[in-house]
Amino acid sequence: MLKPLNSNLSSQPYVGRFAPSPSGALHFGSLIAALGSYLRARSLSGQWLIRIEDIDPPREIKGAADDILRTLEAYGLEWDGAVLYQSKRTEAYQSHIDLLLAQDKAYFCQCSRKLIQSMGGIYDGRCHSLLRAHTFGAVRIVNTAQVQEFDDNLMGHICVDTPFATEDFIIKRSDGLYAYQLAVVLDDAYQGITEVVRGCDLIEASCRQLSLYQTFGLTAPEWLHLPLACLTPGFKLSKQNHAQAIDKQHPQASLNAALAFLGQKRVETSGSVAQMLEQAVAQFQLSAIPKQAEILIEP
Ligand code: GLU
Repeated sequence: MLKPLNSNLSSQPYVGRFAPSPSGALHFGSLIAALGSYLRARSLSGQWLIRIEDIDPPREIKGAADDILRTLEAYGLEWDGAVLYQSKRTEAYQSHIDLLLAQDKAYFCQCSRKLIQSMGGIYDGRCHSLLRAHTFGAVRIVNTAQVQEFDDNLMGHICVDTPFATEDFIIKRSDGLYAYQLAVVLDDAYQGITEVVRGCDLIEASCRQLSLYQTFGLTAPEWLHLPLACLTPGFKLSKQNHAQAIDKQHPQASLNAALAFLGQKRVETSGSVAQMLEQAVAQFQLSAIPKQAEILIEP
C-alpha cells in the first residue's frame, strides 16, 4: 500500500492497541474493534497492546475488566506485554494537568450544565478570562490548536467543522474524574501507539485528541476508524443498549461474522482459534473494509 509522505507507519515498528472500558462484557461491536485493530497490527508484524480504560468508576461493572480479558483469550486475541490499567495512571494525568494550569494552557471552570445549555450547548470560553480566579471546578484546556482536520487511513480526509473541535473542552471533570480525551492521549503516547484503530463513534474525538497532542508537544499517532455495527441508523451496538455478550465457548461463528462485517474472507473453522486468526491475518486486506461510518446488522 502506498503511504502518504508524512506517514510514520513505514519508518517505525507498528504498535496498535485495543482500549476497552470495563462497563460490560465484550459484544459484537467491541469484537469488531478488537479484531480490526488486531488484524491490522499483526498483518504489519506489529505489536498489539491492551489498555483497560477504568477511569470512570460509576460506569464500571465489577468483574468486567477480567471478563473482557478472558473473552479476548477465548477468541485467540493474544496481546503483547502487560495490560495497562488507566486507574494506575492518575499521577501522570494530574501532573500534566498541573503543568498546563501553571502555563495558563488550562483553567478551572465552574459553569453548570444549565448555564452551558443557555450558551446554546457550546462552551463560550468565558472562564478563560477569569484565569486563575477559580481554583476548583472542572478543568478546561485552552484550545489554541483547534485541530479540525486529519487523514484517516480508512475513511480518508476528515473535517470536523463544528464547535466540538474548537471549544475549550474538559480535561478533568468537576467530580474529580479525568476526562477520556486527556487519558487516551497521554496513554497512547506513553504506550508508543503508532496507529489508533477503533470505531467511527470516536472519529470526531480524534480532532480534540490531535489538539491535545499539539498542546503537549507529543507526536500523534495515525488514525484508522472502522465502521460501527448498528441495529438502527445512528444507534451503535453498545453496552448501554444491552448488546448481547459474545459467546466465550463458541468463538468460531462470531469470529467469522466479525470478519465478514469487516469485508474480509471467511476462515476455516475446523482448527483452533489461533489457526483461524493466523489465516485471517494472512488474508487481511485493509482495502476490503467498507468505508462506511455504520453498517446495519440483524439483532
Ligand atoms: N474506551 C473506549 C471504549 O470502550 C475506546 C477508546 C479508544 O479506543 O480510544 O469505547
